[in-house]
Amino acid sequence: MDKQEALKTYFGHSSFRDGQEALVDAILRGQDAFGIMPTSGGKSLCYQLPAVMMEGVAIIISPLISLMKDQVMALKNMGIAAAYINSSLSSEQMVTAYRNMQNGLYKIVYIAPERLMGEGFASILHDMKISLIAVDEAHCISQWGQDFRPSYLKIVDFIESLPQRPTLAAFTATATKQVREDIVRILKLQDPLSIVTGFDRPNLYYHVLKPNKKASTLRSLISSRRNKSGIVYCATRALVESVCDDLCDMGVPATRYHAGLSDEERRQNQDDFIHDHKSVMVATNAFGMGIDKSNVSFVIHYNMPKSLEAYYQEAGRAGRDGEKADCILMYSAGDINTAKFLIANPSDNNELNSDERRLVMEQDYKRLDTMVSYAKTTDCLRGYILDYFGQVHDFGYNNGQISYETEQQKLNDINQNELREQPHINGCGNCSNCQTEFQKVDITAQAQMILSCIKRASDKLGYTLGATLITQILCGSAEKRVISLGLDGLTTYGLMKGTNKALVRDYIEHLLSTGYLLTNNYGSLELSDISRNVLYNDEKVYMSQIKPYAADKYPSSKETQVSGILLDGDESQQNSTYSQPIEDTSLYEELRQLRYKLAQLENVPAYIVFSNASLADMARKAPRTMTEFLNVSGVGEVKASRYGKAFVDAINAFID
Ligand code: ADP
Ligand code: MG
Repeated sequence: MDKQEALKTYFGHSSFRDGQEALVDAILRGQDAFGIMPTSGGKSLCYQLPAVMMEGVAIIISPLISLMKDQVMALKNMGIAAAYINSSLSSEQMVTAYRNMQNGLYKIVYIAPERLMGEGFASILHDMKISLIAVDEAHCISQWGQDFRPSYLKIVDFIESLPQRPTLAAFTATATKQVREDIVRILKLQDPLSIVTGFDRPNLYYHVLKPNKKASTLRSLISSRRNKSGIVYCATRALVESVCDDLCDMGVPATRYHAGLSDEERRQNQDDFIHDHKSVMVATNAFGMGIDKSNVSFVIHYNMPKSLEAYYQEAGRAGRDGEKADCILMYSAGDINTAKFLIANPSDNNELNSDERRLVMEQDYKRLDTMVSYAKTTDCLRGYILDYFGQVHDFGYNNGQISYETEQQKLNDINQNELREQPHINGCGNCSNCQTEFQKVDITAQAQMILSCIKRASDKLGYTLGATLITQILCGSAEKRVISLGLDGLTTYGLMKGTNKALVRDYIEHLLSTGYLLTNNYGSLELSDISRNVLYNDEKVYMSQIKPYAADKYPSSKETQVSGILLDGDESQQNSTYSQPIEDTSLYEELRQLRYKLAQLENVPAYIVFSNASLADMARKAPRTMTEFLNVSGVGEVKASRYGKAFVDAINAFID
């Protein structure tokens, strides 16, 4: 069987993805290989495919016990004999696995690094043909990497203990130069074929927001994404709880995931999300590893993660189906402290000694700095990420000169998908920093109202007021202090009634930054000398704003109408009704239900039966015969014979 045939027969794919074929070829001809591909890039296939084609058993070293189990389950389901060896096995299961391995029953064996030097394993392999050794998540070998595991250092001892050195392949998604060099050096890769494939995800739109009130900003973001599936990442369990409650209160079908929940509840909630019973998952970073849900259309970070690697990985769970998706980071200065606390109090890596721990911590602080710079940069966000991962790119950088006047404008823009529709000047067009068109707006009238209000209030009281009270007077507020000071008697009282308070504050900020207003030592507002020009000489005041939404150009869907413009801190507008997901009566839904039933019968997760991508392709092609069924992406021979009839019958019944 040649590689194309094997690709189709076992994995059900008709073509290779970027980088896969070259890496497979290298391994097949016995050359070491080094694949650097983003999460979901398809690294597993690069070693699984040669493993099936070559003589002997392939040893795959992988750090994550839960993922091993999943991978082995998926392989078995494709008709590939596989097993895993890790601490989750009982001693009896271990004995059985070893015996089967010795009898040559497996093509692929996953093993945890700390088991490599365990009694028995190396000695069994002594008399066996090993097709290749693949090191997955190879960055774990580097102290500069984000998940340094000292047990990975034993891999080299293990390989050197073998009578003959097999072909060695390493794979990772994190690839700063330093880590890459470490992997090659420590693993002693020999003249490896190294391939770096696209870290660029053209369908992802990166945004950074710095909201005053995260809770209301989140509500606004979610309201304008009704019926869409998304993940909200929070830094702590407590935040997951409160954010999830908050969303449920506004009628959003949300569920939650963190390490404090029982296994049972986590599984249930994850299932609800994966099966779209719940559209929003609120979670800590414990959620997402190995989740193959393709229709996630937004990932919002309620807090800034500890590193850009983590951010890229978590945000990258959006848009796997290739549809446009949003990655929104909500950043506040407090996030830095939370991240520092998490770095200083690590919960996971018990393998490290104190020296190693200190080193890792130092690296973690550096990585945090990179993350903070991402949150603060005015340059192209997409370019920033690619630069960090060492990928050359040619789209432009933002010139960094234009920025939003307010966070609110940016939020509105993100909600209305404005960024992605407009022509851009210098940037990539995919991120909130690569600004689009701005226009100067004449705000002379508003400026005059504000300035005269400040003047009249201080004339009346003999002292000056802060921005909050001035805003309340202008908006005609019946707040206690306004009334008790008699400010409702001013001629400027209620002059800007109907204008949102946050917008009035924006105008005031603008007048401060342009020097028409000053603040005194108490933080109260005072008129500057040049403000006379505006009040008495009709000098014009301009503020730059993004071009307003052109209704005729982008016909407003129901969705954008409902999304409206929600201003930060304006609670009154935030009770927009949030409708339940529309019942899906499509063929896809029919197939999804069938997949669910089959998965339950076999007691495996649904995506082990077929991925969402396969299901979508199936719904599109609607195969009515077994031959047609084999054309569906992700359908190999074993899966076709196992599930084909059920799906073909269902499709025929649906169409007829
Ligand atoms: P990684 O290990 O790089 O994160 P995986 O190996 O888990 O990624 O693959 C991610 C997804 O891509 C899987 O659902 C897999 O079936 C799919 N995939 C891999 N290679 C191909 C291919 N050549 N064609 C279509 N889908 C593929
Ligand atoms: Mg992988």
